[in-house]
Amino acid sequence: MTRLARSPAERTRPEDRRLKFYEPWDMLDSPRISGQPFWISRSLNVKAGRDPLGLQTITLDRIMPILLPGILVLSRRARYLTFFAFVLREYERLRLDPTNEGLSEFVKRREFEYALAVQLCPNGCGKISAGAVGKDRAAPALNNLVGDGVPRQESVKSFLGGYGLYYRTPLVDLGLVVPKGTVVGEQATPVDVLAREERAQALADAFGEAIADTAYLREHMLGTEPVPVSVLRTLSESACLCRLPEFPDEQRLLRQALFETPAGQLDVVEMDFDQRRRSFALFLRELDRAPDVRGSNAAFREAVWDDFVDAPHGEGALAGTLAQWASLVAKEYLQDAISCVFAHFWRLGLAAQDPEGLSAAELDELIVGTMLGEGELGIGESVVGVGDRRRDGGRRARVRVRVDREASGSGDGAERVGEDRSAAL
Ligand SMILES: [Zn+2]
Repeated sequence: MTRLARSPAERTRPEDRRLKFYEPWDMLDSPRISGQPFWISRSLNVKAGRDPLGLQTITLDRIMPILLPGILVLSRRARYLTFFAFVLREYERLRLDPTNEGLSEFVKRREFEYALAVQLCPNGCGKISAGAVGKDRAAPALNNLVGDGVPRQESVKSFLGGYGLYYRTPLVDLGLVVPKGTVVGEQATPVDVLAREERAQALADAFGEAIADTAYLREHMLGTEPVPVSVLRTLSESACLCRLPEFPDEQRLLRQALFETPAGQLDVVEMDFDQRRRSFALFLRELDRAPDVRGSNAAFREAVWDDFVDAPHGEGALAGTLAQWASLVAKEYLQDAISCVFAHFWRLGLAAQDPEGLSAAELDELIVGTMLGEGELGIGESVVGVGDRRRDGGRRARVRVRVDREASGSGDGAERVGEDRSAAL
């Protein structure tokens, strides 16, 4: 909300009186005056974003697909790859409507039931935020049982569910799914199907075998009646995302699908497999060097950067992969700094502006005055002196920055102390 209040001294003169907006909670303690508008509840929740300039999006949408092709950056759950292989093949085996519209409904129903099982997992998978596709519907559904069962639903609204939103692209990139419209045999498939290759079919087999003895598969998967909670709980004991380590064959097949280049591939596909292997190898290397890497992005960034700085000019596959990831780390560090400065700038601007906003001159003054301040800035082990502001036609501000190299401990002689540099803003 725009702050319009003036200082108490200014408000004492009636001609300077301004409208003041109150936050809704301020109104709760004040007596209500009949006939005046008042806040009832917030309809707009404004939060300070962690990525105000959208720089993180570049990492997720552009850089990660290059460094880690075929890997979904939004999920850590490898078992979804076997789950969807199984669901797609079941759809084909049952000879249901051969369209993606029909597949969409089938997938979304299976995703919802799977999300219920994950929610009921005795290992606490239901407590993981965004742990499963359809969690937002599965969790409340378990509190609204009909008898001892959960009424059928779809996981999410979106076409083809979580499969279409997240997993379809990586599955296609890995060559495990043939998307609608691709020529298979003599005609184009009218619906997404599991690839005919053994490595794809084996993934579906593996998940099918894992749940082969469950009442869910034998009696409930294709029904329309509510699914008993006890059935879903038993399903979770073999099917949950966390149970993958109990099925070493399924794990092996997933590794094969991700890392072993199938014969007769185009160069571009081979390059993707190569890049994926290298990125995973680097992760395992850093994990060896710093076990914290397992659960912390910050620890991974730090490990990669330290590794790179030790030998920044190396050659070969390892050095090349390390340089790729170190470049990303550098970008992330830079982006955090820019985001912090921008967020601070925005806060100062909101506080300083009039109802009409700031003029160009006021904006300049905000940046080189209020924001940059006077005196010395400590940056890491360096101290930077700020001062001697000059204006350039009122449109461009320049700041002269004195870098005190001696204070930084990295000085290389007295003659460098007090070196002046200009920085354009
Ligand atoms: Zn689990």
